[in-house]
Amino acid sequence: MKYFIYCRKSSEEETKQIQSLETQERMLTEYADKYNLEIVEILKESKSAKTDGNRPLFSSMLERIKNKEASGVLVLHTDRLSRNGIESGQLIKLFEMGFIKEIRTPSRTYNSVTDMLYIDFDFVFAAHYSRNLSIRVKEGIETKLQKGEYPSYSPVGYVNKVGKIYPDPLREKHIQKAYKLYNSGEYTLKQISNILFADGFRTRIGNNKVHKSVIHRIFTDPVYYGAIRRKGTLYKGIHEPLVSKSLFDKVNDRLVGKNHSRKQKHTFLYDKFLSCKVCGCKLTASIKKGLYIYYYCTNSRSKCLEHKKYIPEGDMETLVKELIANFNLKKDMADLSLDLYIDDLKEEYKDKVFSKDILAKQILSIDEKLDRLLDLRIGNAIDEEKYKEKQTKLKNEKTELEISRGQLKANSLETTLELLYEIKNRACSLKELFDCDDFQVKSDVLNSLLWKLEIESQKIASVQYKLPYEYLKDVSKSDDILGWRRGRDSNSRRTFILRCFQDIRSRPLSDLSSK
Ligand SMILES: [Zn+2]
Repeated sequence: MKYFIYCRKSSEEETKQIQSLETQERMLTEYADKYNLEIVEILKESKSAKTDGNRPLFSSMLERIKNKEASGVLVLHTDRLSRNGIESGQLIKLFEMGFIKEIRTPSRTYNSVTDMLYIDFDFVFAAHYSRNLSIRVKEGIETKLQKGEYPSYSPVGYVNKVGKIYPDPLREKHIQKAYKLYNSGEYTLKQISNILFADGFRTRIGNNKVHKSVIHRIFTDPVYYGAIRRKGTLYKGIHEPLVSKSLFDKVNDRLVGKNHSRKQKHTFLYDKFLSCKVCGCKLTASIKKGLYIYYYCTNSRSKCLEHKKYIPEGDMETLVKELIANFNLKKDMADLSLDLYIDDLKEEYKDKVFSKDILAKQILSIDEKLDRLLDLRIGNAIDEEKYKEKQTKLKNEKTELEISRGQLKANSLETTLELLYEIKNRACSLKELFDCDDFQVKSDVLNSLLWKLEIESQKIASVQYKLPYEYLKDVSKSDDILGWRRGRDSNSRRTFILRCFQDIRSRPLSDLSSK
């Protein structure tokens, strides 16, 4: 038997998951080789099959079959062959008349009239209908979102009615109570789940207790204050909110803060800063005989001998106090440094408007570069990979500039001065603060001072301070106030002092205050 290979792809199918003409051809010729089928010609049609008479190659193929050039057709899928009644009718007629003996796809052979009807009803109809349907569904979601309608099955606390969502009379009060309970700060998610269960709050399917993970989802879904979030974009909903935006925000702050504080909650003062110089593992702490705290290498790579060298908490405190003694800033010297710095700062603020202009111009110029880059890509002057690479680079630059511009606005001179005085006072009273017996105060001091302490043989082998202490530790080593004063005119000394305070300035206030 002789065969035509028939391949088809129309322009309206470009974006869909249908193999290109070349792929169809390759797969079918491979198949034909494998089964030794004799191919008369490979026909590649790029017209639609939705309307009949629109496919010259298809029509001519039928003519040639009537002329007995071939009696079989090989296609990748039957939906390539016929998508309307008239064309299937033509195929069936040729079948009945004995001109077509076989239609083959790699997965099935059709060689009777019944088989042909099967093609007609099942494949053709299903393929055609399902594709149109999927497009309609996508359009539907987009339109609904634009209109502020919830596009899918209602979230807990709402019910679906004629394409929209409305508060669920059985559950809305429970949702509102959950928000209020959590906002009070006195209940965990699990406790709230239990309280609501006692109130009669149940899952929609199965009538069970609503799990705390669902409660968490209820707290983070903006639908409850009236918005709809879809793939990261927020749409303004037309449904009735169950809670106010401000309650939603407070609850979410608490959710984040709560996680935060849980993470930071340490029974031990030092362990989170300590790591082993020898093997790089974290040090951990445990309580011996219910009373004494010891720190030691966790030895997670099981090769380190350091884990046998326990450091008692008291020894650890002595070591850290020695570090803090380095920051025993002379108050008059710190005052002098700061005064010098503030003079410069005031100068600099005069130019502030100027800097803002420069940043704005730089941002504008990046936007222009991005435009030009896009033109190049559209004109195919650069390939996609190169385009993405350059685009990412420019966008990153832009983000950095925008952040700088934002900070320029946020830090007024007054805020900056206030911050600097605070830092100076903190640095001068570090030792005093750490000498107190309050765990929380001690912990705050360490948090603001340290990144990392590396331990070897029960001693501190190296330290990483946070800014500004990284700079201040050097300032404090000099007792020579007169020298500092004389250095007032010396440029190198001046630069050094500047550096001490410079990095502090770029840090947000919250980083330093009340920590
Ligand atoms: Zn170790």
